Amino acid sequence: MPDQTPAPSAHPASGHRASSPPPASSMPPTGAHSVPGGAGPAERAVVVDLAAIRHNVATLRSWVQPAALMAVVKADAYGHGMIPVAQAALQAGATWLGVAHVTEALSLRSAGITAPVVAWLHTRSTPFGRAIEEGIDLGVSGWELEAIAESARRLQQPARVHLKVDTGLGRNGATLADWPTVTARAATLQEQGLIRVVGVFSHLAVADDLDREEETDEQLAQFHQAVEIARGAGLHVDVRHLANTPATLVRPETHLDLVRVGLGIYGLSPFDRRPASDFGLRPAMSLTTTVANSKTVPAGQGISYGYLYRTPEPTRLALVPLGYGDGIPRTAMEAPVWIGGRRAEVTGRIAMDQFVVDLGTEEDVAPVGSPVELFGPASGITADDWARAARTINYEIVTRVGARIPKVHVDTRPGEDIGSPTGEGR
Ligand SMILES: *Cc1c(COP(=O)(O)O)cnc(C)c1O
Repeated sequence: MPDQTPAPSAHPASGHRASSPPPASSMPPTGAHSVPGGAGPAERAVVVDLAAIRHNVATLRSWVQPAALMAVVKADAYGHGMIPVAQAALQAGATWLGVAHVTEALSLRSAGITAPVVAWLHTRSTPFGRAIEEGIDLGVSGWELEAIAESARRLQQPARVHLKVDTGLGRNGATLADWPTVTARAATLQEQGLIRVVGVFSHLAVADDLDREEETDEQLAQFHQAVEIARGAGLHVDVRHLANTPATLVRPETHLDLVRVGLGIYGLSPFDRRPASDFGLRPAMSLTTTVANSKTVPAGQGISYGYLYRTPEPTRLALVPLGYGDGIPRTAMEAPVWIGGRRAEVTGRIAMDQFVVDLGTEEDVAPVGSPVELFGPASGITADDWARAARTINYEIVTRVGARIPKVHVDTRPGEDIGSPTGEGR
């Protein structure tokens, strides 16, 4: 393994939970990460490789050029740690950041990040005034226009706005029926110097399903129509954005001026049938710990709550100190786990703090302290494997993980900032 150097870290004043301890000085081949100060493997760690983030951003960026790339870092960067991920993405060529909430955008600003940031999900309690003061772009579906104009009037400073049209997802965005009214009102507020319309955007519903191209075609056609209507209302629509990760990977005609990529920058694939490696993307997150207890039990031993499993013969069991309190889905029974150098499976119910792994009949395997990897490069087990076991999607696996698990940001290739676009993605 190459040496690691300190990763870009959170601004000390940010108070953001994602701030990491200094990275390990070396990465043992076991995949276990050392606690700073050399106290041995970390008890539990979400390890995020910023070199993988940079590689993924650079790879995607080279595919979408001349379109720009927005790194979507909402929800603590899908569990990867918002500040270090945002910094790595910007280093590798992302020129925009995207989040759901203004509060998330304010955390980016507190960390000293000055790049354009768009926040697109608001309530009447959203601090629009703070957003305007901090130069945060606001996604707007309709009702927000008046609240934002009100704040802008008070501050004597125009708000930067991206108008959102609903082209079929049925969530946020103005309906096509309301769109002429919304764009006309935006043009009026712009003439009054209260807002500046920077762009128009929409969100796709089924781009991750490779068998449903027509519905995406329909959304794209409606989007073009909406842009024409906005221009007819006298707005300059400089930044048109529609593509999420799946559309970025397989629908180049959706790239337009800017793509909004979340999952892809974390090195995961949104498709059932095409793994991330098809596109030259590398998973950035691994989840590691060590065995907390290890023992041989007799035949007939019930395991965990509800006794869903009983050992058929004398069996070696290992206890793993991660549970649903750490974001491990309780439904992920039979998920694969790499433990003490071998692949095994979750056995019985996953509890709040822990789960049990059946190691078979061999004596003395995986003693206390043995490294465990739930997913990551040492094992080759992926978030997709866990998603399948839990009957969910890889997005949810990585995003849920971690509220109670320390994040460790490492950099396996310090200084590298250009990925080689090896995929034949489209
Ligand atoms: C979360 C989100 C994205 C990113 O989606 P991915 O599939 O993870 O790339 C893009 N746009 C909007 C509006 C989102 O909410």
